[in-house]
This record gives sequence, C-alpha cells and structure tokens, in this order.
Amino acid sequence: MIDFEKLLKHIGEDPSREGLKETPHRVKKLYEKLFDGYHQDIKQALGSTFNDEHFDEMITLKKIEFYSMCEHHMLPFFGHIHIGYIPKNQLAGIGGLARLVDIFSHRLQIQERLTSQIADTLMEILDPKGVMVICEATHLCMRMQGIQKQHTHIKTSAVRGIFKTDSKTRAEFIELLKL
Ligand code: ZN
Repeated sequence: MIDFEKLLKHIGEDPSREGLKETPHRVKKLYEKLFDGYHQDIKQALGSTFNDEHFDEMITLKKIEFYSMCEHHMLPFFGHIHIGYIPKNQLAGIGGLARLVDIFSHRLQIQERLTSQIADTLMEILDPKGVMVICEATHLCMRMQGIQKQHTHIKTSAVRGIFKTDSKTRAEFIELLKL
C-alpha cells in the first residue's frame, strides 16, 4: 500500500489540511487508471486481425497520442507514436493498434522500451514482413528540471524485419509521415 500521506509530509506538507485531505485517496484512484496497462491480454486488445493475402503494401498509422510515466522519476512523458508495417497476410484494425499503444504506455516505462515493445508485439502477433515504430516525446522530468529545452522532442525508433534490411522501405515510411 502506497503511503501518500507520508509522501506529503516528506515534501513539507500538512496532510491534514483541508485541500489535502482527500488527496492520498484521489492519487491512489488515479494511479489505478494511469497504470492499468499491466495484466491485460495484449492479443485481445489488438482485437480481431483479418486475413488479406493480397495486400502487401505499407500500412501507416500516424500520430497516435500517448501518455506514459517514466520509471526513473514517475513523471509523465507524452507525445506521439507512428506505426508502419507491411503485412504478410494478417492486418490489424486501427482501434486495436491504438489500444496496444495505450496498454504499453499505461505502465512505468522508458521511451525506448515503449517503442520496441509495440514493434515486437506486432511482429509476434501479425507476423508481418516488417514493422517500424517511431516515438516522439516530451519528458516532464527533464522539462521541469530544465534539462530538455522547450519545444524539443526526444525521438526513438524500433525497426524490425524488412524495415531493417531495406533502406528504401524505411525511407518510404519516413516520407509517408511527412504527408
Ligand atoms: Zn524521468
């Protein structure tokens, strides 16, 4: 059981004052929501995948919004995730991809792992020719300490399959993101 009262005392607050009375309870409830990404059935979240043997063009999903918490400071980092993949015969719905992003971001994370978990999961479940995931994020732990400058984003990417071996495929994905 997390002791938010202790935490409040630790930072120099009086947990018994009016405005803070309900805070430990509220934060506990909030954390349950923010961290509901554990113990979820990933396959089920991705939803029904469908077969299309004739479709082998690149599918991209741009700018999926996400909010996560960094595991080093437990402060938010947030931004956008872009997914590109080339199916072999399994396709995923857009809602499913967004849910996948939600599940992995609703855990304590580091940006690199969030990015690669999404790529690896898609490789595993869809068995596509390749996947590429790009994540652009702002980290409040850096912003608030003045380490990350305003309006800069940290970018990470995870490259699997044909995106790794074929630079043209990679370039096509990057081009599509610019549109
Ligand atoms: Zn941090």
